[in-house]
Amino acid sequence: MIGIWEEFLKIVSQEAGSHVVNTWLNAVSFSHWDSLEKIVYLKAPNNFVQEWIKSNYLPLFQSHLSRLFSVDSVKIVFIDGSYEAQIASESKSSTSTEIDIIPAVANPEFLPAKKMMVSRVQNRNPINKNYHFENFVVGPSNQLAYAAAHAVTEKIGRLYNPLFIYGGSGLGKTHLLHAIGNEIRRNYSNVEILYQTADRFVNEFINAIRFDKVPQFKSRYKDLDVLLIDDVQFISNKEQTQEAFFHIFNMLYDNHKQIVFSSDTDPAGINGLADRLRSRFEWGLVTDIQSPTLETKIAIIKHKASLHDQELSEEVMHYVASRSFSNIRELEGSLIRISAFAALTNQPITVDLVRKVLAKNKETKKTAVDFKSIIKALQRHYHYSLADLRSTGRGKQLSLARQVAMYLMKKLTNKSLQEIGTFLGRKDHTTVLHALQKVELGLKEDKTFYQHVNQLEQEILS
Ligand code: ADP
Ligand code: MG
Repeated sequence: MIGIWEEFLKIVSQEAGSHVVNTWLNAVSFSHWDSLEKIVYLKAPNNFVQEWIKSNYLPLFQSHLSRLFSVDSVKIVFIDGSYEAQIASESKSSTSTEIDIIPAVANPEFLPAKKMMVSRVQNRNPINKNYHFENFVVGPSNQLAYAAAHAVTEKIGRLYNPLFIYGGSGLGKTHLLHAIGNEIRRNYSNVEILYQTADRFVNEFINAIRFDKVPQFKSRYKDLDVLLIDDVQFISNKEQTQEAFFHIFNMLYDNHKQIVFSSDTDPAGINGLADRLRSRFEWGLVTDIQSPTLETKIAIIKHKASLHDQELSEEVMHYVASRSFSNIRELEGSLIRISAFAALTNQPITVDLVRKVLAKNKETKKTAVDFKSIIKALQRHYHYSLADLRSTGRGKQLSLARQVAMYLMKKLTNKSLQEIGTFLGRKDHTTVLHALQKVELGLKEDKTFYQHVNQLEQEILS
């Protein structure tokens, strides 16, 4: 059992960064595993560590330990300190994305007089209750996708199967997938729905292989009625995962279970996708979402403003919509900034104010990018400190993080290769040059990596 705990630490280290393990999880010790009750008993040195772990890492514990112990869900009980955390998965019934804390039934054997808390965490990605059909604004750019998604909820597995929705980032694909899930939950009681991003599918599959649990992994899908796979392009170039997915697809399809995919391109555009899978993606209905028209943007602005009881003049709405937002996520972000600025400075929202806020945003984009903000963004994603990046460590992840740092520094600041090298503790600029070449090649060849770097860039610029 200790072996499993070590495995768990390794996975966390890869997924959340070694600092999480070094700082927090190494402080915890594994006590024992109760296979009957499916409880993992842990000891924490003090309340602080315990609370921190409870509030930050419960989902990691839940998803990985349940898999490692080959059970649907595990309970985690801390047997030291004055609180015990118990994690119970609601693998079937939950529609909630929150972690509810409710009083637990005590486990008298280990926890005689102690106060105990139970946290319920869903084992799989939950369906987001905020995304419905009702708050999805329909226009020419998305009406087909909307109609198809809606139709799926009326004739589950019978009409468009699979339904494949593709389009650029921030155009509402995830929103529609969750809307399907919510609508089906509202209309039917005993329907098993799973929403999952494809990269999560990939990760879970890799772990299943590692621990020889592929049959268990596959069997988790067999009772589903609806499978919603978001960002399916993430399975590009992952041969073995595609193979597993192919079988899951066939099993569900043959039983008339509904499958819905979203992707950033059409099936033909997904690199390294096995032909037989590509053809299956095309079996049902393939539909796209395009960038919204001006009218749709205005309708979306109206909708979002009314949600926040924000009054906007026609002129302002028109002005905001006419600015070149490439996607709805950006549009939403700008609306929030505009209304926050107006509220904070106590000014009415006029075209002038909007212009100022949006221009200001652009300006800061140009000037405020410095090494520090790049390092900060990297830390959020890779969990390496500046010292790690400057070290001579050559671990795969660390080298990658360092190369991405160099690439972003070159791209987003006007510093020289030499300055970048020096900042990252490199003696000469050839290392930086080499990093740039590697990253650029990666961007060309690996779509997932491209999206990842792109996202980092957006975060740094926003
Ligand atoms: P994608 O998955 O395509 O990248 P999302 O579904 O995450 O995009 O959408 C980004 C944001 O824009 C979400 O907050 C979503 O609610 C909102 N959004 C997208 N399309 C619409 C729409 N047609 N009506 C209302 N909100 C939308
Ligand atoms: Mg999405």
